[in-house]
Amino acid sequence: MAKRVQSVKGTRDLLPPETAVWAAVEAVARRVFGIYGYGEIRTPVLEETELFVRGVGESTDIVGKEMYTFADKKGRSLTLRPENTAPVARAYVEHGMQNLVAPVKLFYIGPQFRYERPQKGRYRQFYQIGAEIIGESGPYSDAELLLMLVSFLRELHFTELVVLLNTVGDKESRFEYAGKLRAYLQPLQEHLSEDSRRRLVTNPLRILDTKDPKEKELLLDAPRLVDCLSDESRRHFEKLCDLLTRFGLRYRLETKLVRGLDYYSDTVFEIVSGNLGAQDAIVGGGRYDGLVASLGGPQRAAIGFAIGEDRLVDLLPDSFRGACLKAPLVAVASVDPVDTAEALSFAEELRRHGVDAIVEFASRSIKSVLDRASRVGCRFVVLIGEDELSSSTVTFKNLSSGEQVRLPRAAAIEHLKETA
Ligand code: AMP
Repeated sequence: MAKRVQSVKGTRDLLPPETAVWAAVEAVARRVFGIYGYGEIRTPVLEETELFVRGVGESTDIVGKEMYTFADKKGRSLTLRPENTAPVARAYVEHGMQNLVAPVKLFYIGPQFRYERPQKGRYRQFYQIGAEIIGESGPYSDAELLLMLVSFLRELHFTELVVLLNTVGDKESRFEYAGKLRAYLQPLQEHLSEDSRRRLVTNPLRILDTKDPKEKELLLDAPRLVDCLSDESRRHFEKLCDLLTRFGLRYRLETKLVRGLDYYSDTVFEIVSGNLGAQDAIVGGGRYDGLVASLGGPQRAAIGFAIGEDRLVDLLPDSFRGACLKAPLVAVASVDPVDTAEALSFAEELRRHGVDAIVEFASRSIKSVLDRASRVGCRFVVLIGEDELSSSTVTFKNLSSGEQVRLPRAAAIEHLKETA
């Protein structure tokens, strides 16, 4: 036997019926984001590597270790996108969207690629649903974005999720704070992990979101970013907190939340779930006021989020999931010697009326037809034998009650239409 070819490590096939759940989640995203005035953007999966080096930042894990980067046949360095905010900002600049009425509101749904160690909830090809508002700096847009995010999650029947919120301040505040944190941690270097020692040089703020309990303890007395905030950053954050309280959105201040990407400024947030173990973040986001300009565009403030769709689908409440998994309503079968074409023809008629129907293609015993129909979850079976054909009727069986009746074709269609 020929050797089987397997899917690539860290990637996976999404199969029915699970794909129906994914499609339903995406349909809710499209509807909710549409209500808030967002339009869909689809950017290429391939980008020039430089986009992420400049946009996401060289000192980040994503750019430093996790990108799928390769040279194409002409030797150009290309990267499978590891995230979608830098591509959206690139597209914004490339298409002159700064000339549109601001702010520009965009959402995306699609695969991202990171060379990480695969584990539960972490894949090398994973999917994100994200949204970005570009061209608005005030806290009202932060609040609206979070309200939209939470109403999306509520429509998926999530009730217990809490938004973790922090501010990383503006560039100046962060610069001042990085200096203070470095000074605090330098004498403690020998207790830090290799990663953190490296970050002490490249990006000390990242040490704050360490998962290592020993490092967490060391950080208990570290200087706080909130104490270095400029007046403007402080006002922005306070106003946002007021707005969230006013709109009843539950959040928790998490002063050590910094997020892994360099482009964030001021507001940052995550939504976590206790059920995912170490990989507990479902949503990450924040403000990125410098990104558009760093990609050669005008200075434009912006904020966005990315939801990890794989994790979201994993955690979906059963009440939402159950409603997505719909079996065909009815199986139609011809009974010997009636040609299967008669079953096909009646199924086509049902489908024209919006009834989802499957056809039994091979001629089988009635018992086997009923068995197979109930195994795929059909609620009804329609049988067409010689008598039925000559009298324009069908035998109509309700699989859950076992009840079986002979009905004129039109009556069977009406009945199924009402049930569908
Ligand atoms: P980030 O772009 O790192 O802010 O990630 C945003 C969200 O994407 C995270 O909260 C996760 O839910 C999801 N995510 C990031 N990396 C992965 C991955 N390797 N596998 C699955 N989901 C991921």
